Amino acid sequence: MLRMTRDQNFLIRNIPWDYLGTVYNFFKEVGLELNQPALYGKILSCAGAATCQLGICLSRQAARALIDELKKSGLDLDKIKDIKINLSGCPNSCGHHPAADLGFSGKALRNGDRLYPAYNLFAGAIIGDGTTKLAEYAGEIPAKALVLLVKDFLKGYISKAGKFTDFGEYIQGEGKADLKEIILRYSQAPDFNEDKNYYFDWGADKLFSLAQRKAGECSAGFFDLLEMDLKNLKNTQEALGKVAQNENEKGKLLGELVFYASRALLITRGLDAKSQEEVYAGFLKHFIETGLIDKSFRDIVVIAQRSESREIIARQSQALELAKAVQALYETMDNSFNFSRQSIDITGGIPPEAGKTTELPVIVKDLRGVACPLNFVKTKIELARLKSKEALEIWLDDGAPIENVPGSVKAEGHKVLAQKRIEDYWSVIIEKK
Ligand code: SF4
Repeated sequence: MLRMTRDQNFLIRNIPWDYLGTVYNFFKEVGLELNQPALYGKILSCAGAATCQLGICLSRQAARALIDELKKSGLDLDKIKDIKINLSGCPNSCGHHPAADLGFSGKALRNGDRLYPAYNLFAGAIIGDGTTKLAEYAGEIPAKALVLLVKDFLKGYISKAGKFTDFGEYIQGEGKADLKEIILRYSQAPDFNEDKNYYFDWGADKLFSLAQRKAGECSAGFFDLLEMDLKNLKNTQEALGKVAQNENEKGKLLGELVFYASRALLITRGLDAKSQEEVYAGFLKHFIETGLIDKSFRDIVVIAQRSESREIIARQSQALELAKAVQALYETMDNSFNFSRQSIDITGGIPPEAGKTTELPVIVKDLRGVACPLNFVKTKIELARLKSKEALEIWLDDGAPIENVPGSVKAEGHKVLAQKRIEDYWSVIIEKK
């Protein structure tokens, strides 16, 4: 059996001229697509969520859909010889998305109560001796918009290709602005009732969901969702500080605050709530009844559940305390998405030792013996506990861990301050963004 890496092709040498037709027909018969634009051979995907337990998106099916769309497009793809398009089904980089001209990594996003498959988009990797640069984060788009975005972008590039020596020159200049404009065009998923298609992944016949996935599976997807709601929570807390005199707006924001607080951590319990009722019921069952969040917060959740705006304003301080309690609980989450009740100040404050600032580097985390991609997930968990500009030192094994983790950390916007080999392992010092 012939085995090749993702980036290899093969060359058959010394075929006598008279046999060329026979060889061509043989490969055609075994199903190889011949006489295709070279670009199709440069669209590469990892296994994706169809077979990989860590996967979030069906990247292989998305790559197939992209080729199908390009075939229909009528674009003169023979003008494009130098673009690599790589897809990974999750933020781990098995599809080598950080090394692509256009790279995509699968994630989950929310529109209202609904989850939909999506991709982070990276652009402009340079691979060269001494000049290598990873692709830069450019934005996020629904999975179903990926094929349209790439088609539009290539169309623009083809029309301007004569102006640039290669794609690298284009993407470093004019291409960046073109890509930004196209991302804006496609960044929003339509409402579920308007177009349900966006809520199914490519090739999937069931609605997209992360429910029932356990810790360790798809951890990066968990973090995307968690961070989104924790950010919503923080933004709502800030907005509340600006509407002191406006009772209507205050009632609305307080309702949203309790909603985000109730939803933020549900995914750690394998719940993907699709309605407000499911959010509040899940929160009461998994956080209030278990005592992870103090039972005194039950009333404010029930009030929010009933959308009693006047009542919620009357209990404003309790709503604010609930938000703090959820944020504090998140701070205690361990690598397996479990929480420590003992370390929570029930009034919602973070215990003093969790909030202290110290000199660089603060924490050393030994990840030797931890395989990819869990070493990256654990690094993310440690970084999530730090404040901006604080540092973390991790120890990684040689091989895949040191080859992958620092790049993934940088792709998320953190700085790698130092990386050095110590005996048979590596020390990497990271500054949180
Ligand atoms: S871990 Fe993620 S990037 Fe790697 S094969 Fe699975 S889905 Fe693809």
